[in-house]
Amino acid sequence: MERIRFGRTDLKVSRIAMGGIPIMRLSKPEAVRLVQRVLDLGVNFIDTATGYTDSEEKIGEAIRGVPRETLVLASKSPADDRTTFLQHLDRSLKRLGVDYIDIYQLHNVSTRKRYDAVFAPDGAFEGLMEAVKAGKVRYPGFSSHSVPLAIELMKTGKFSSVQLPFNCIDTEAEDVAVPLAKELGIGFIAMKPMGGGMLDNASLAIRYLLRYEHIVPDPGIERIEEMKEIVQLVNHPTPLTESEWKKIESLRKEVGSEWCHRCDYCQPCPEGIQISSVLSVKSFLKRMPLERAYQFLNETMRKVPSCTECRTCVSRCPYDLSIPELLKKNLRIWDEALKALNPGVNT
Ligand code: SF4
Ligand code: SF4
Repeated sequence: MERIRFGRTDLKVSRIAMGGIPIMRLSKPEAVRLVQRVLDLGVNFIDTATGYTDSEEKIGEAIRGVPRETLVLASKSPADDRTTFLQHLDRSLKRLGVDYIDIYQLHNVSTRKRYDAVFAPDGAFEGLMEAVKAGKVRYPGFSSHSVPLAIELMKTGKFSSVQLPFNCIDTEAEDVAVPLAKELGIGFIAMKPMGGGMLDNASLAIRYLLRYEHIVPDPGIERIEEMKEIVQLVNHPTPLTESEWKKIESLRKEVGSEWCHRCDYCQPCPEGIQISSVLSVKSFLKRMPLERAYQFLNETMRKVPSCTECRTCVSRCPYDLSIPELLKKNLRIWDEALKALNPGVNT
């Protein structure tokens, strides 16, 4: 598979990366086999996070014996402070079984509060710089769900890698963040290239992103057939046809009115409802084992009935989402999904 230079780093990455979330759903032997088969297909770039339960551990086992220099590994820490960040990094190194990680990212810098915390004295960014100096990390990066904050972070000149949601439906990054990354020589990882599981047409989704030569989509896959299809698209790229552009337009219309960008501009909700998490239920269900999704999300979902329909959130949402209605709809989806768990567990 074609390799591209990742921003201005000296990393040569495959045109597509593998995202580390869905392997949480697989047993260890299944996950190990999947990662190894993905590597056999020519993918050399794997992106995970210390928060993705046992994802790092499974990847570590899969890459044991693979020459380190042939791989590009990326992971992330959600820590705000330096000490916890460095603890997370050491844990990532241990789980992955490596001496260094190519790209270590401040995970999900999507709010001003987190932004300020990571850059505070003794904040996570200090830890990241220390790790680069110590050779434990080659390049500093971050991920975010907020395009404006990501633009600010890119402009600091402190990062070699940016990761933002970008797909044919969620195009907020497209006008400014995507060209800016190119201009500044910052490697761009397209998070959620398949819409976090919402887009099932890999051909449209991947070919849309392949139009940008400096972008690396990192689809989360859990079956080798999915990656084979994507690799085929990467190895034999063809432009989108007129009818495919029309299809994308109609997908945007169909899904766009319910698409939460997870920017959290709607917060705070006076009732403490985590709106973006509730509106991402389908994506969680698609990407996580149900038991894990239950532990992670059920408390959040159970707050939905306390919505007073004050619509404060609606007035703040730049995408005009009908939030109270969508909260109820997502709660119904959630309760329906929970029926697959033991009866009685759903409340
Ligand atoms: S409408 Fe509901 S979710 Fe939105 S701010 Fe009011 S209580 Fe919170
Ligand atoms: S509901 Fe609107 S404001 Fe809130 S996170 Fe989603 S897109 Fe952003």
